[in-house]
Amino acid sequence: MKLIIKNGIIVNPVKNQHEKGDVVIENGKITSLGGVAKDCDGDIFDAEGMFVTPGLIDMHVHLREPGQEAKEDISTGTRAAAAGGMTQVATMANTCPIIDKASILRDVLYRVKEDGVVKVHVIGAVSEKLEGKRLSEMGDMALAGAVAFSDDGHYVDNANFMRRAMEYAGQLGKMIIDHAEDITMCEQGFMNEGDISYALGVTGRPAVGENIAVARDLLLSEMTGCHIHIAHISSAKSVDMVREAKRKGISCTAEVTAQHLYFTDEYLKNYDSAFKMAPPLRTEEDRKALIEGLKDGTIDAIMTDHAPHANEEKDVPFTCAPNGIAGLETSLASTLTVLYHTGEMTMDRIVEVMSVNPAKLLGISGGVLEEGGIADVTVIDPNKEWVVHGKDLYTKAIFTPYENISLRGKAMLTVVDGQVVMREGRVLV
Ligand SMILES: [Zn+2]
Repeated sequence: MKLIIKNGIIVNPVKNQHEKGDVVIENGKITSLGGVAKDCDGDIFDAEGMFVTPGLIDMHVHLREPGQEAKEDISTGTRAAAAGGMTQVATMANTCPIIDKASILRDVLYRVKEDGVVKVHVIGAVSEKLEGKRLSEMGDMALAGAVAFSDDGHYVDNANFMRRAMEYAGQLGKMIIDHAEDITMCEQGFMNEGDISYALGVTGRPAVGENIAVARDLLLSEMTGCHIHIAHISSAKSVDMVREAKRKGISCTAEVTAQHLYFTDEYLKNYDSAFKMAPPLRTEEDRKALIEGLKDGTIDAIMTDHAPHANEEKDVPFTCAPNGIAGLETSLASTLTVLYHTGEMTMDRIVEVMSVNPAKLLGISGGVLEEGGIADVTVIDPNKEWVVHGKDLYTKAIFTPYENISLRGKAMLTVVDGQVVMREGRVLV
């Protein structure tokens, strides 16, 4: 079946393309890109007023399989991804059991084949059981398809262990993604340490806890040559350090969540656990620094850290609730609302940080539209206004910090390998 996406604006930064034109897809491939499609024989999607982009890629999600299916599973998580305009995601290793062996990683990839709606890549653990004591089966996992290594959810707190892990990962040509929060400074805290936490009387996680971890990892990257990717960077000083490290030629990159670009710790004033995450939402000054970092190339990617929890886990007093929120269905809309419609970032830069760069960092195909290439495509209506209601989302987690918030912009079509998996908000498979 032929699919013709008509009248959209093609935004394809890798090819320096930003122009109105049609896209024709047949047998999983893009057969014609740009200009006016000659034949109208097929399934036509009118993208007038919309952007046609390479499929969006979320390089940091938690699909929770195996073992935590009460929170999310591959079926619901990848449906949420499709609804959010994602064609590919990379899922983290902090499952039950931990993805620290090739056999477990292969099982996850098998489950993806059975239940996945979008492409799923797996990030293997750095350490066995995420304990930070013995190396995981990194080599075997790399052979089985691990795209990177991370103990995300946990900080690798032993510096010498991290050094060895980076030496090993470097030899395998894989990056380490670190959850940068020094455990001794952050473990006891529930939100950003600052004026709001003092006023609420809640123990905080100071930004300096992140800064210490980022500094150590940049130093170890310089020492070992292994690429370090700072997960969910959240504070102004961390952005400064990554900027300086890049200037020095240290092999490092960073990502930021859509929610850290939208919200600040002010939103926690009602002790609402829907805003509870790690690293925590920080100050307006930090939020502005994150945006600057994205604009000047210090931060390479926007991702979700989609970390759903079962509703009964999150619906408890603030200090008892787990960290993490679902984000796959709101990240694009949040980004367009807070960065595109405010004039902070162009659509081209948004496509770079939500598709081009994640593909490069993970070493996977994607991030570009080309004739003869794989048809992973997202069509985005930048002006579609909608109000978020957690109960209407595909994720199992009904708690979202965006509840009742009106966002502007939405993915209207998600195409994976030439197959329409989401159309106008409805997941079709
Ligand atoms: Zn993390």
